[in-house]
Order: sequence, then structure tokens, then C-alpha cells
Amino acid sequence: MVFAIRSIVLCALSLAPLNIGSVANAQSSPALQASKYIRDVTQADVRDVVLPILRQGMQPRELEIVDRIEIRIVVDQRIGRVHAGEDANGTPIIEISTGFLSLVGSLIDANLTGRRFGKAELIGPYKEAVSTFLKTSRQVIRDGGTSAPPEPFNKFAGISEAQYSAFWQSREYDDQFSWWMRSALSIVLAHELGHHVFGHLDELETKSLAERRSMEDQADDFAIRVNWMLGVNPILFSEYFLIFAMVEDGLLEGSHAPSACRLEKFIHAGLTFSKGDQGFMSHVQKDKALSENLSQLEYAREQLKEACEDGEAMTETSIPGLFGLSLNK
Ligand SMILES: [Zn+2]
Repeated sequence: MVFAIRSIVLCALSLAPLNIGSVANAQSSPALQASKYIRDVTQADVRDVVLPILRQGMQPRELEIVDRIEIRIVVDQRIGRVHAGEDANGTPIIEISTGFLSLVGSLIDANLTGRRFGKAELIGPYKEAVSTFLKTSRQVIRDGGTSAPPEPFNKFAGISEAQYSAFWQSREYDDQFSWWMRSALSIVLAHELGHHVFGHLDELETKSLAERRSMEDQADDFAIRVNWMLGVNPILFSEYFLIFAMVEDGLLEGSHAPSACRLEKFIHAGLTFSKGDQGFMSHVQKDKALSENLSQLEYAREQLKEACEDGEAMTETSIPGLFGLSLNK
């Protein structure tokens, strides 16, 4: 299973260019095969690993609702297709697109490869390049131009294919990639499950933007709570808000709170979680770099809070780059 999960990244790297690209490309056979492969692997991992673990953090009345939901990984290049809903037969569903998984996989790969080869300082610029591509390519194509996505991280960072491929095939990579992918799935899935648990899907169209945002807040709280109960520090999920920020085209119009505000909430929860962990805090006292990381996060959190309160966070540019910070040990 673990071995299979790792394979997502190969597909991810080949698929990333297609996320916003032409429909014609997406229909071509190798891309379609890769998408189907991602779908099957992820579907099995959600069923066998991610969901059974998440269920442990839920109450019986929540499980009653959750156990009726069909989770569907769908072959779709669109990165923004992650949502809770109902199908035509009224079955409660959650859909997660292979396009979204490809994007997440590519970024996880950049994190792992950058750290492994001493190129951590390039992880930030790489993500910025991906972000710029995602934000601009649609318009570029509309204007008749062509928009090339960034190369896979190893090429971007000048790491040879031979070196990268040896790393990629290692157990170390396998374990870490699986861990990060599952942590991403558990936050995304718990958020969408939360929408069902709180009955958000009824009369969604009639809700105001403020009401929809408060629903998103509730779903985020649910995701934090469930993962917290399982001993997973919410700080680990901070990075995903940077991904969401890339996916959300218009932060102003979106029903989600601006990513900066969601990020602030997860950092706040993460810091609280960390401080309540005696073992972790005694480790922090001995580790200067770690304690500096924590102070940086405290500082980033204060800035984010201010930006959210005075409305500055409503523009994309105010999302601070946390890329330089090492969020895991
Ligand atoms: Zn939501």
C-alpha cells in the first residue's frame, strides 16, 4: 500500500502541467491512465487508512452521518474540485479531484526533495512559480498565448535524474510522502465531512456570503477538533492554506474565509497544541532552531491576525510567505 501511494508523485509530476491546461491534453491516453491510477490508489488509501483513522476522533452521532457518505476520488484535471454534496440519487457524497491530488503531490515532492538535497532555500521560489502559473495561465491561454508550468522540482533545483530517482525509490521517500499525503487527505476530508455533519448542504443557495463563511469556519473547527483528538498537531496543516490560496482564484468572492485568516486559525490551534505537549516543549527548550521556529510562527500569527482584523487579508498579496519556515521538526 505504502509503495503504491508513493507512485502518485510520478503521475503528479507529469500531470501538474495539465491542471489548467487544455482539455485536449487531459483526454490523451497517458494522462488519463495516470489520472485513473491516482484515483484508484487514493480511493483505496482513503478507505483503508485515512477514513478509519479519522472515524476514531468522531462521536457516535457524527459517525451515523459520516458512514452514509460516499467518498469519491474523481478523474478530473480541475484542481478546485473538492467539495461535499449530493448526487442525483440524493446520496451524500464528497468529491476530490485527481487534479487537486496532483498539485498536492507535486508540492510534497518539492518539500521532500528540497530538504534531502540541501536545496531547501529553493522550495519557496518553486512554490511561488507554481502559484504564479496557477494564477496566470488561464488568462494567458484565453489571450491566445501558451503557458508552461514549472518543471518538476528536481529539474528546477538542478538535481540530476539519477540522484532524484534513487531518492524517489527509497523507503525514506516512500514513508514521508505517504505521511504527508495522508495528512493532507485527513484535513481536506475532515473539513468536507464536517459540512455533512453540520447539515450545511441544505438550502446552500439561499445563504449569504457571511453565512457561508461561518459554515466554512465550522467545518475547519471540526477538522481541527477531529485531528487534534487523534494527536495530530494542526500546525502541520498550515501549509495547505498556501495551496488553497493558490486554488482560490478570487479570495473576495470565495465562500471560504480568506486563506490568511484560515491559516491564522490553524497556526493558533497548532501553537496551543504544541504548548500543551510537555514532551514537545522540553524538546523545544533544548533545540534552539526549533524554538526560533516557534517564535517566528508566533510572530507570523500576530501579523495574520492583524491583517484579518483590518481587512487587509482580503487581498492575495497579504498572505505572508511561510515557505522559509520549517513546519515539521
Ligand atoms: Zn468548505
